[in-house]
Amino acid sequence: TRSYCTYKDINRFCWFIKHYAEGAYDAGTGEDPTLLINAVQVMTLHGTKGLGFPVVFMPYCVERTYRETQAGFLNPEAFNFTRYRGSEEDERRLFYVGMTRAKKYLYITTSRHITGKRRPKYPLSFFNELDNRYCITTASPDPTKRRRLPSKPSVEEYQFPTSYSELSDYIRCEYDYKMRYIYNFNPIIVQALGYGKQVHNILNLLHKIAQQNNVIPTPEIAAELLKEHFYLRYAADEQEETLKRSALRSILRYLGLWREDFSLSVKTERPFEMDVENALLSGSIDLLKRKDGNENILEIIDFKTGNEKRMNEELMLQVQLYTVAARNALNLNVEKAYVHFLDDEKQARIEVLTTPKQLENAMNTVKDAIKGITTRRFNRNPKSPKICNDCDWGRICPKKKR
Ligand code: SF4
Repeated sequence: TRSYCTYKDINRFCWFIKHYAEGAYDAGTGEDPTLLINAVQVMTLHGTKGLGFPVVFMPYCVERTYRETQAGFLNPEAFNFTRYRGSEEDERRLFYVGMTRAKKYLYITTSRHITGKRRPKYPLSFFNELDNRYCITTASPDPTKRRRLPSKPSVEEYQFPTSYSELSDYIRCEYDYKMRYIYNFNPIIVQALGYGKQVHNILNLLHKIAQQNNVIPTPEIAAELLKEHFYLRYAADEQEETLKRSALRSILRYLGLWREDFSLSVKTERPFEMDVENALLSGSIDLLKRKDGNENILEIIDFKTGNEKRMNEELMLQVQLYTVAARNALNLNVEKAYVHFLDDEKQARIEVLTTPKQLENAMNTVKDAIKGITTRRFNRNPKSPKICNDCDWGRICPKKKR
């Protein structure tokens, strides 16, 4: 069969583009971790299912005037609207869901008339069914006549879970964080995705072998491990082979130039959790090693693929944060911290300054980022226009700096 697009269809499509699509995009359906933060939350009744709050407000509980659902741009013959029209019992259940979200106080408001509107409004029938014995219907500052105590926040414990990589996205641009973790957009997948992680894994295995057997792994062992464990999910065969060769060169160079790491290594991939500003910050330190010949003084090494031209404030901040975590959360005596670039031609290990002042500044930056996220501050504030040019969301971000 053949179908034709009529003027009416185009008109509807234009209406849709003009009134909806132009200023909106799919905000995703994923979990928003910041919604659990201690703050007022505005949501639909459907969205409250499974949640509970000390105080709940259900405003504007009025009867809706019956109106057929409009087809809009959808084809009414192809779409069965009646399937999605709820019954009165469905509405009643939903009202019940809303009411039972309250742990302590429930406020339900309604209206008999809205000034300026042509049609009068009437309270929702479920509202009228409420048993007045359980309601306070007259205005009263505090109907329970309790002894007044100073107000304080809810005692419910909630720690916002986060990691440095999430915070660094926020620090780079607050709106980037929103796109990534609140709207749950996924960046474009590149073939080399996971390359750094794979190189880290092989290094981790090599260090484990050294710790267990008390020997420095040979290049043959490294090549064997790489052959067995290196896998890039999105790379085509040829690309994967090229990256595998590059990874082997990087690892062999590291084995040749930084052999002493293996005899001084204490722990690789050391996980930590740290309480910062009511957030639970977790991460993993790539390598903890002893300072030459000294059992009690440790150093942190954070591995990065690429060369030293990548060194920037973000990497310094990460290592400074890990230094604080190692000292405060793991109680380790860390003296120095480095970023090690695992370039396949020229490797470099750059010390990051960890004076008390620098660590304090780093923690202030981290605390400010946590505060920004937990108070839902998502400004378009890329640190430089170049960040917008390289941003994963450059093509869809409505706030891109042009
Ligand atoms: S395009 Fe620019 S403003 Fe938009 S999220 Fe990316 S960095 Fe931020």
